[in-house]
This record gives sequence, structure tokens and C-alpha cells, in this order.
Amino acid sequence: MSVDVMTGREIPPSVQGFLDSAGVLVIGGEERGASDGGTFTTVDPATEQVLAEIPQATADDVAGAVAAAKQAHDTGVWRGLDPAKRASALFKVADAIKQHANDLAWVDTLDHGKPVKHALGEMIAASNCFRYFAGWVDKMTGDVIPSRDGRFVYSQREPVGVCAQIIPWNFPLLMATWKIAPALAFGNTTVLKPAEQTPLSALWLVRILREVGIPDGVVNLVQGVGEVTGQALIEHPDVDKIAFTGSTEVGKHIMRTAADNLAKVTLELGGKSPNLVFSDAGDVDKLARRAAFACFYNSGEVCTAGTRLVVDAAIHDELVSKVAAAADGTTVGPGWGDGVAMGPLVTGEHRERVAGYVDIATQDGAELITGGAVPDDLDTGYFFRPTVFDGVTSDMRIAQEEVFGPVLAVQRFEDEDEAVALANDVSYGLAAAVWTRDVGRAHRVASKLQAGTVWVNTYGEIDSPVSFGGFKQSGIGRELGPHAVEAYTQVKSVWLAT
Ligand code: NAP
Ligand code: MG
Repeated sequence: MSVDVMTGREIPPSVQGFLDSAGVLVIGGEERGASDGGTFTTVDPATEQVLAEIPQATADDVAGAVAAAKQAHDTGVWRGLDPAKRASALFKVADAIKQHANDLAWVDTLDHGKPVKHALGEMIAASNCFRYFAGWVDKMTGDVIPSRDGRFVYSQREPVGVCAQIIPWNFPLLMATWKIAPALAFGNTTVLKPAEQTPLSALWLVRILREVGIPDGVVNLVQGVGEVTGQALIEHPDVDKIAFTGSTEVGKHIMRTAADNLAKVTLELGGKSPNLVFSDAGDVDKLARRAAFACFYNSGEVCTAGTRLVVDAAIHDELVSKVAAAADGTTVGPGWGDGVAMGPLVTGEHRERVAGYVDIATQDGAELITGGAVPDDLDTGYFFRPTVFDGVTSDMRIAQEEVFGPVLAVQRFEDEDEAVALANDVSYGLAAAVWTRDVGRAHRVASKLQAGTVWVNTYGEIDSPVSFGGFKQSGIGRELGPHAVEAYTQVKSVWLAT
């Protein structure tokens, strides 16, 4: 390892080698630059140093990628393979991600800023996701359907076709995996566009896919800003399906655009998830640590972050002071630093946005308990202190809008009905949690919460076999779990006269 004297960063040689080769798109199996030579840079948010120069795909490049995916679909090089061969390839991808997990974790830490140990957990989750979907490949059975006399009717599931897959920057490799693994398992071809802030690890994944023998053109990688590269992709008439993870605002735009070609759409969007804590929930020290983790993990850049702590008045004061202590005790620093629990925000622009919400919350009358500023000792990098606001009411913007940073809003309730009403009083419905030792209350409240995922006495757990997605304005469709079948297949009914 060579140590950068300016930053103290020690990039492993294998990772540096990858960075040096990362300036490519992958179209029809060919690694190449943009057709007009355009590029953009990706930056390490902990050091503000450029990591790599990446080609900015033009509309022509996007058209080339879609054409390659369409050809691979039409010729059936992937969907026509024996299921055992397709499954075997995806199991090999799972193994390769695990084998390269350390290097891949470093890449996402450099590109996004998260602690390496957290990134490593994401690589294991990504490996498990490929393994889970590999298991689906040879289990796609149809039905025999009773109908009229003299007719034999059956159904079969077929791939949707060319999938445009657009992902955000918060979990770069894991989000790419959530898209590519089910698409491939069910026989589709894809064009992936990572977020411009974190383009790197997706390339490593696409190289792994080639190495295990997935044919050229089945997975294509285009890079670039949403308004140019993403827009060209969602407008393309040969795209059969758009799978998007990102903000609700861009999700709505994608749905409107998809209407022109009637492309199928699944959307995994934003959240403002409530974390309900009842006074019977147990040890307040532990609850405080878990509530802080629920909001500050990954710098708060998590769609399911528990950004609204909805607390029983009986334990409010004690819990809030302990959450504030946990916030102050969070070690903030570069993701590769020893004992670091929280890295920087992803960009300087994003930090401005998060800091703007501190002003908005203060103006709206919320009480700043701790944080709300850049840490004193970190003047390089886009760091921000874990922040806690108390006295938040539902009419405040901090209670309604997704900040996507380490900013917790505390709301107080007097009884169970008020807790549920506060929890549901937002346009989002991605996730929610309830902490109580009363089993009746746990079930009662879980059934009333308007969210695609509800945790009881835990927070933030996600696993490939468990379907995931949003109620209300948090999305359409489900990823992961058995319901991913709906997202990446279409049903054909076949009538046969006997
Ligand atoms: P974003 O601004 O909506 O961007 C998401 C992706 O869409 C990026 O790749 C972006 O490209 C692209 N994009 C932007 N404009 C586009 C357009 N006109 N056409 C096509 N693509 C376009 O979201 P973000 O800031 O990256 O990510 C944070 C959001 O993601 C939060 O709202 C979070 O809750 C959500 N999220 C949801 C889930 C979930 O599973 N529900 C998971 C993770 C994150 P560029 O960035 O390159 O411009
Ligand atoms: Mg970056």
C-alpha cells in the first residue's frame, strides 16, 4: 500500500489498479469511452480528491447499449440457456463478489464515503442476493388452468425484455445487485445507469458478470448524469421496463416518461420513516443507541432511515437526552479510519442541502438539541455532525420531507392512537418500527402502520428472501423476495384445442 501524505489514505494496490482502469462504459461487451469523448469526475467525499475520470454516455451511446441489450434478448443468448447453466453463472457471481468483497468495499468507501466495515457488510448482502436469485432460475413454473371442455390451457412466465435500471448513490454495489440479480434470474437483459456520484463499483460487478460467462450484451453499463444519460435511457422506445431507485420526485418524472412507450415501471423511492418507542419497550440506554443507529447509519443516507423518533411522553426526556449523547459519541471521520462509525456526506452540494434543512427546522420552531454543523476538527471532506431536533410537529417541513442526511426529528405522543396518527401523517410509506414489550400492542400497531416494511423491536433489517418496497409515495412494486417475480416477468396464457 502507498500512503497518501496529504490524506493518510492507504489504497490497496488492487483497488488502485481498478481505479486506473475505471474510465469506461460497457456496451455489447466492449469497454470503451463516450462517443463524443465527454467525461466527468468522481470524487472521494472524505478527501475531496478526484478518484477517476468517467465517460459521460451520450444519447447515441445509450442507444447503442439498448440495441445491444435488445439483440441479446431477441437472439435468446441468455434466456435460451439451460436454467442449470444460468443458475450456475449467478452462483459464480455470488462467489466472486465474496472473493473480492474487501476490494469492492474499499471502492464503495472511496466513492461514497461510508465506513469500510459497513461497506463489507453490503458486499456480503450483495453476494447473498445473487445466491438467492440464482436459486429462482430453475423454479419458474407456470399453471395448468381449468377451462372449457376440449381446451388445455396453461400459463408460463417470460422475461419482460430490455430493462433500464437506474440507481442512487447510497449503496452503490448493493443497489446495482438488487437490480441486476433478479433481472438476470428471470431471463431479462439490462442497461444499468449508476448515479453520477458513485459510478465505480458497478463496473467491477459487470466485469465479474463477463468473467463467469454471461454473454456480451446481456448487461450493459452506461455512466453519466441523470438529465442526459438517464433521460436518454428512459425515453428509448426499445426499453421494455424501467426499474428505478431514487427520489420520489425523479420517480414521478420517470413514470410520466414511461407512459409514452408504456414501459413497465417499478419504483423504489424515498421515505420519512417513523420509529415508535413506547414506554414499556425496555432499557432506555439500548433504545437510545438503536434509535441513533436507525437514523445516523450510512450518514443518514438510507431510504428506510428512522428519521422520525416518535416517543412516548413518559420516557421522552430521558430518551432524547440519551439519543443526543449517542449522536455526540458517534465517531465521524473518513471511512477507512479506525473506529469510524459515520463517514462524510456524499457531496458538498448534498451537505449544503442537509445544512439547509437545519435552518428550515430552526425557522419552523424545532429545537436543536445537538449537531447541526460541520465537526470542528474536519475541515476537509463533506462531514456533518449527527443532529437531533426535538419539539417537532407534523406541520413542520422537517417532519414531512426527506433530508437524506444525519438529522433526527423527535415527536412526542400521549397514547397509542396519537402515536399511529403521527406515524402515518406523511406522504411516504417505506418503513416503520415499533418498540414495545406488549405483544398485543406490537401486532395492533404493526397492522395500522402505513409502510411496506414494519420492524418490531429491531430496525433496518433487510434480507434477499424478504420482499421490499413502498406504500403511498414511496414506490410501486416490490424488489427482493418472491414478489420480485412480478417485477421481472410477464405472464403468457396458452390455449390449446385438444
Ligand atoms: P435521485 O436524484 O432521484 O437519482 C437517482 C438516479 O436517477 C440517479 O442515477 C440519477 O442520476 C438518476 N436520474 C436523475 N434524473 C433523471 C432523469 N431525468 N432521467 C433518468 N434518470 C435520472 O436520487 P439520489 O439522490 O441519487 O438518491 C437518493 C434517493 O434515493 C432518496 O430519495 C432515497 O430515499 C432513495 N432511495 C430509495 C431506496 C428504496 O429502495 N426505496 C433505496 C435507496 C435510495 P444522477 O444522480 O447521475 O443525476
Ligand atoms: Mg464519488
